[in-house]
Formats: sequence, structure tokens, C-alpha cells
Amino acid sequence: MNILNLFNRQPKQLLLEAPACSHSWNLFSKTYAAPKPANEHIPESSFERVIFGVTTFLWECMNCGTLRQEQALGSDDSQLAEVLDKAERLGIQYINYNGKRFGIALVPQGEGNVPLR
Ligand SMILES: [Zn+2]
Repeated sequence: MNILNLFNRQPKQLLLEAPACSHSWNLFSKTYAAPKPANEHIPESSFERVIFGVTTFLWECMNCGTLRQEQALGSDDSQLAEVLDKAERLGIQYINYNGKRFGIALVPQGEGNVPLR
């Protein structure tokens, strides 16, 4: 016999796990790894990361302190502007995208002009 039975009540169910946090993310830090010079050998697996550089975002939940990391190619600056600048300074730049390989190069005016949409 226990006290709860005397009062004809069911014991209250224990809450064994904390309720899931509805995270409230706050940007904790942001770091940018700049592209490396294109004259080094670059493994194909990391080609895009080396050409564009990588920005790492670290988010912290304001409620529970959980940390979450995200990475994105390039910086907050325009990736296109960086690639075009490299193509002008260093020659043709290659980008692997969806299993295809693209080349970006400076072409003299009047050759192979393609109108931008
Ligand atoms: Zn949280």
C-alpha cells in the first residue's frame, strides 16, 4: 500500500526527457578561409573550396546553448566577381558543378560574345 492509493490518485507521470528546444539561433562567429593561389596542385575533391574559399558560420541556440556549424563556398562578397578577377589575372578558371567542368576565361571583345539574360 502506498500513499497515492489512499487518495485514489494516479501517480503523476515523470518527465524523463526535457522537452525539445525550439532553437533560437544566434550567429556566434563567422570565419572565412580565403582561396589559395591557383598555381598549386588542387585535388578535384576540394577544387571548389580552394577556388572560392569557404565561410564557416557557427550558430548558438539562445535557449539551450546547442552549437550548429554551417559552411558555404566563398565569402559574403560576390563569388562571381572573385572568379572573374582571377580569370583576368591568372588565366582560365575551372569550376566543377553537377558533374560537369566549366571554364571561365577573359576573351577579347568580339569573340564568342554571349548575351547575358
Ligand atoms: Zn535550443
